[in-house]
Amino acid sequence: MQPTSNVAYMAGGAKATKKDRDRAAFLRDALHHHNQRYFTHDAPEVSDAEYDELKRELQALEAKFPELVTLDSPTLQVGAPAITTFAPVTHRAPMTSLDNAMDPNELVAWGDRMVKGLAGQELQFICELKIDGLAISIRYEDGVLVQAATRGDGKVGEDVTENIKTISVIPHVLAAPKGTHVPAVLEVRGEVYMPINAFNTLKADKERENEQRIAQGKKPESVPANPRNAGAGSLRQKDPSITRARKLAFWAYQLGETLGVPAFGGHHEALAYLQQLGLPTNPERKLVNSMTEVKAFCDHWEAHRHDLDYEIDGAVVKLDNLAQREQLGFTSRAPRWAIAYKFAPEERNTILNDIQVSVGRTGRVTPFAVLQPVVVAGSTVGMATLHNREQVALKDVRPGDTVVVRKAGDVIPEVVGPVLDKRPKNSKPWKFPETCPCDVKSTLVQIEGESDTRCVEPSCPFQRDQRIIYFASRGGMDIEGLGEKTVFALSDLGLVQDVGDLYSLSQEQLLQIEGFGELSATNLLAGINKSKSKPLPKLLTALGIKHLGPAASESLAKTFGSLDRIMEATEEELSNIDGVGGVIAQSIANWFKQKPNKAIIEKLRKGGVEFGNVVTSDLPQNLVGKAIVVTGSVEGFTRDEAEAAIKDRGGKSPGSVSAKTYCVVVGEDPGASKITKATELGIPMIQADAFQQLLDTGSI
Ligand code: NAD
Repeated sequence: MQPTSNVAYMAGGAKATKKDRDRAAFLRDALHHHNQRYFTHDAPEVSDAEYDELKRELQALEAKFPELVTLDSPTLQVGAPAITTFAPVTHRAPMTSLDNAMDPNELVAWGDRMVKGLAGQELQFICELKIDGLAISIRYEDGVLVQAATRGDGKVGEDVTENIKTISVIPHVLAAPKGTHVPAVLEVRGEVYMPINAFNTLKADKERENEQRIAQGKKPESVPANPRNAGAGSLRQKDPSITRARKLAFWAYQLGETLGVPAFGGHHEALAYLQQLGLPTNPERKLVNSMTEVKAFCDHWEAHRHDLDYEIDGAVVKLDNLAQREQLGFTSRAPRWAIAYKFAPEERNTILNDIQVSVGRTGRVTPFAVLQPVVVAGSTVGMATLHNREQVALKDVRPGDTVVVRKAGDVIPEVVGPVLDKRPKNSKPWKFPETCPCDVKSTLVQIEGESDTRCVEPSCPFQRDQRIIYFASRGGMDIEGLGEKTVFALSDLGLVQDVGDLYSLSQEQLLQIEGFGELSATNLLAGINKSKSKPLPKLLTALGIKHLGPAASESLAKTFGSLDRIMEATEEELSNIDGVGGVIAQSIANWFKQKPNKAIIEKLRKGGVEFGNVVTSDLPQNLVGKAIVVTGSVEGFTRDEAEAAIKDRGGKSPGSVSAKTYCVVVGEDPGASKITKATELGIPMIQADAFQQLLDTGSI
């Protein structure tokens, strides 16, 4: 028997050794097992990438030694046998799988096979998205949905009619296209999937339930790892009301058995017909004339896969012409006229070697996973954040576990969860450390109402180093040559205690750093020098004051113009600045009050760091700290001009009246609610003709 894979056939008369036979038997067993876990239980133990690797290895062995092919080889099979929870449904025409192209070369090789197999014929390809869901066949008789079945092993599937009927996008009755009748029989095949939104809701619900379970001292239950497993599990529920609640969706992509449908020349016509009958077909399909266009389609969607509200794991490329399809036919498990081009996997399994914690500049202690390095979505992942204490408890990941690591698009890698079946015996839940890992070893605290655990020791060297790294980073003073490694070296040598010390470093001191020569020392000093003239908002952000980000720093700099004026400002004045508010104002005021911070400021001043004198408006800043509400139209000003006139003088112009409002300017046709509120709160109101005086003098 010939293997069905698209791996090159390489039989050269060599005989399989015992080692080859054993390996093939091992791979067959492993793949059967994983098929059961994935297709029957919707709970895989390995990632798709690992599964595909095992399958490819078996295909390669079988291609090399055809005598190793057995009738029950997973390379010849589709899915896994149906389970008895549901009534069996025998498919009138088999539901096949697809051959895969794992890289562009395999895609080109498939294209070449098409050209060769249909020599001299013109070819058109239809490119579709490969929806990561569950294959379903739905049968309509005289336009009425009568049966729906899973693929099962391709021959016999499971009767999931009642569950399918709960999916709102699937019509129970077909619509007859204009001037025609609905077909006597129409079997449509497609993919049921869980939209990402629905998955996120389900996951959040499960996590909330688990939080309660943990609070009650119970074990957390497993949370669905991805939309594919969640979708498949939701459809194959005994109780259709559960399926209904899971908000599944469906894309139709293929005709099965039909009676009374028009004759189609190409697949694209069949899809258009399905759409006319009221069945959802995926709009992101494209009819193209060359493999270059096919490749462009695949590349586009690999880069944009996260723009969609559903998961795709590749593109499916099919010959469009139905007569040509017949010419090529099927292997035992897949059509020859189609190929699934698989995108780089975004999930891999690996070993969690350890869980460690890092201490940030604000003292926040973050657990992170130390992983056996694994390539995910094209890059090697050796570490992944575990966010906080609760997240580790919720996921219950433990050193030694096999874990699922996910890296989707530009998102930072995350540990999805453990593979419980692979958990080593005697493993124990990981315990959050009680003390800071730094030399001071201070006791860590979890402030009530906060999910974070913190080191509150001001002299913690880890926090100090992180504050310096943050100060020098691109978002702050952007000091060239001062990366993490150099900061650690400077701090180990005792040359810097805080960011202020950077500005008194000498060439001789820098030469003490291991690996530092004249050039690196000169460059670093130049970088530090250059940073002295950074604009005020950058300096403010770089100080790392809690809650104070770049936007609020920008507003503060714009209003006050210099660091000295900000330091002099009262908390109330600060809180009236656009984008600042009470919490940030309090944090800023507190920061500048603390002695060590005062010392830093003086070191920066002495070191020559510019404290800014950004004056963005020539106008007197006489409304700083004042919130002035304008209601109705003020003669000589549009609404925007009136607000701008206040802001240009350092004031704030909020849209509603509160106890903090300095005064209300009442123009023509004022808003009744603002007048009522101002009266209630006793806020002064001035007429429109007094507005100019307010602008000129800063008071009423
Ligand atoms: P497949 O997923 O490689 O491709 C075939 C399937 O793609 C079709 O049956 C259909 O359901 C689906 N499909 C989606 N969009 C389509 C479209 N536009 N047109 C046609 N078909 C479309 O093959 P498979 O047999 O369903 O499953 C095998 C794959 O499942 C493996 O490659 C692996 O990724 C995964 N798997 C994983 C495990 C595991 O343990 N992690 C186990 C078994 C299978």
